[in-house]
Amino acid sequence: MRSDAVRLFCSGSNLYQIRASCLWDKVRSRSEKVPWHRLVWFPGHIPNFSLISWMAILDRLPTKNRLARFGIVTNSVCRLCSSGLESRSHLFSECSYASEAWCAILLLCGLYHVPTGWNDLLHWLLLNLKGKSLLVHILKLGWTDFIYCIWEERNRRHFRGMHCSVDTVIGSVKES
Ligand SMILES: [Zn+2]
Repeated sequence: MRSDAVRLFCSGSNLYQIRASCLWDKVRSRSEKVPWHRLVWFPGHIPNFSLISWMAILDRLPTKNRLARFGIVTNSVCRLCSSGLESRSHLFSECSYASEAWCAILLLCGLYHVPTGWNDLLHWLLLNLKGKSLLVHILKLGWTDFIYCIWEERNRRHFRGMHCSVDTVIGSVKES
């Protein structure tokens, strides 16, 4: 976007100062605010966790289910449980490995919910992660970390042939 930026920074031969936020406002395309933005982008969020969660919500993560549509992979079996097919909904809500980790994270916060699928998980989060309490903040960090850790574990198994137990993932979320 260099040419756009130069046009904004320079007026004829006069170079003028422009704040980065103004520049961003001029070059970005605006769209409707989505209800889930507060689950991903919140004060104190951890960028890596939020980025992967954002990609998961938009279904942009290269799950086997998506790659199979492009003919890139033929075996779509989930490496975490070795039974379901690896889609976003399976990986983060239906998979027994992910479900055990998520339920344990909630239990640490004194809550109980077993999601029946991705939409159910997102709906629950939107209903329950409201306000600015310490618990809500911890849950937002916990759920974005959960998504990050499950994706990391999926990649660890897929690319490095290594495994971590559910307890290790829970420990990692607790530490974060
Ligand atoms: Zn699975």
